[in-house]
Amino acid sequence: MVDLDVVVVGAGFSGIYAVHAFRSAGLTVRAFEAGDGIGGTWFWNSYPGARCDVESKDYSYSFSPELEQEWSWSERYPAQPEILRYLNHVADKFGLWPHIQLNTRVTGAGWDAATASWRVSASDGATLTARFLVSAAGCLSELQVPDLPGLAEFDGAWYHTSRWPKEGVDFAGKRVGLVGTGSSGIQVAPEIAAAAEHLYVFQRTANFAVPNRNRPWAEAEERAFKSGYREYRAEARESFLGVPITGTGRPVLDEPPQDVQRLFTERWEAGGGMPFLGAYTDVLVSQAANDVVAEFMRDRIREIVADPAVADLLCPRGYPVGAKRLCQSDDYYAMFNQANVSLVDIRSTPIESAYPGGLKTTTDSYDLDALVFATGFDALTGALFAMDIRGAGGVPLRSAWATGAQTYLGLATAGFPNLFIITGPGSPSVFSNMVLSIEQHVEWVRDCIAWLRSHGHATIAPTAAAQSAWMEHVSEVAYATLFPKADSWYVGANIPGKPRVFTSYLAGCGPYRAKCDAVAAAGYEGFALGGS
Ligand SMILES: Cc1cc2nc3c(=O)[nH]c(=O)nc-3n(C[C@H](O)[C@H](O)[C@H](O)COP(=O)(O)OP(=O)(O)OC[C@H]3O[C@@H](n4cnc5c(N)ncnc54)[C@H](O)[C@@H]3O)c2cc1C
Repeated sequence: MVDLDVVVVGAGFSGIYAVHAFRSAGLTVRAFEAGDGIGGTWFWNSYPGARCDVESKDYSYSFSPELEQEWSWSERYPAQPEILRYLNHVADKFGLWPHIQLNTRVTGAGWDAATASWRVSASDGATLTARFLVSAAGCLSELQVPDLPGLAEFDGAWYHTSRWPKEGVDFAGKRVGLVGTGSSGIQVAPEIAAAAEHLYVFQRTANFAVPNRNRPWAEAEERAFKSGYREYRAEARESFLGVPITGTGRPVLDEPPQDVQRLFTERWEAGGGMPFLGAYTDVLVSQAANDVVAEFMRDRIREIVADPAVADLLCPRGYPVGAKRLCQSDDYYAMFNQANVSLVDIRSTPIESAYPGGLKTTTDSYDLDALVFATGFDALTGALFAMDIRGAGGVPLRSAWATGAQTYLGLATAGFPNLFIITGPGSPSVFSNMVLSIEQHVEWVRDCIAWLRSHGHATIAPTAAAQSAWMEHVSEVAYATLFPKADSWYVGANIPGKPRVFTSYLAGCGPYRAKCDAVAAAGYEGFALGGS
């Protein structure tokens, strides 16, 4: 006798919706969440300045028109506390709390072929069995702290942006070192600079950041998007990034330069990253086209930052714009005009170690009272590998994916029956408006489980052939673009020893959805189905 139909790992956007969707389909479900609250990304990343960079009207669930209408977003790009309130509201509204167990980490799961079920172990010592295991453990949840010699001897406090103390941190009168200048570093830096005596930004790689132009939604704007929400969401589902974007539909290299400058200036003034990258058709596939955008952005940095040497150091070079996550900030570059902010180039003079009073680079010492690591995550596979998942024959997922993640449609992996991954490697995941991708995956899995039941199948797993054809396709699409060219977390370059492979599906959300639907309509083509 199996305890549950489904165990869900994690209670962020994915886990919350999975609990609701599976329960609504009549399944018994329990979600385990390591944190002492729900919300995932928006629970853990409570650093000052944390906000999403997809507009709130897009970065929200679409499954319930009632929810869509009753919830009011205060801002274009809401900050972390508001998104967390929203997710708690969703759990209240749909009665999800009894099915979510907080403070409990799933430590392992083993496939038992005899009972066609997963035996799941949790950090509270419990084990239970479930017909299906659904990982909603997150693409960006397993944090990465650099292995910095001497850190244990550092006298001050240190923080990672993804484990920010809930009571907040007072940096007044403190000399603070910030390591990491990706999305989180760029968001947190101006907030620290506003409070601290001095902020040292240790930069290894300069990143492109476009303005948000964040502002409260005007009542009329909210009325307008709410009145057309259904049609808008339908358009989003068919779109490339999960957000409808108006592009010119033409290559930038064919355009008169003055028209290009005008359009980019308009988009720079309007704010937001996606409209920028989507303005022309060739920006993400042709280096020459990409260079046009990159140079436009470098010109803006030189305009904003007063000291030419600092501006030059802040100008990203050596990788295509967009190939590392495009950051968004209204005040990051301008912050470097403050007298209490210094930029330290750790590309040419790397950090060697921490000492009790600060950080030492190859040429200098920096006395610091606090350290902030905005060093990101072991993306896409980190949270999966942190569990001891063993498939058919006891094979660990870690071994099956030793040379890189292997999935079919990003949803499932050969040798691991009845395991589904929400926004797994091989799907658009981090290259999309993730809430929309999460909904699509959860609904596909829900419908798949219902279909298996109604057709008398107990197990499902991709065939090795379908999986390798899918990963080849993923790779072919990716390597026709500029994305794999950067040393980014997209390819695992931030994790020492991680195989360098690009596993996100870049053909767009709409076409991807169509492929998933076609596989389902063909009786789950590419999957092997097991008996009752
Ligand atoms: C700072 C930041 C900003 C972002 N901004 C955007 C944005 O603007 N737009 C966008 O589309 N995406 C953004 N993202 C990506 C974001 O992660 C997704 O949009 C979305 O929140 C993912 O939801 P999820 O539920 O899949 O994963 P998560 O929110 O990561 O939730 C996973 C949960 O699983 C739990 N968990 C993991 N392993 C276990 C285990 N073994 N046992 C129990 N629990 C476990 C974790 O504690 C976590 O709470 C951002 C990410 C970060 C870090």
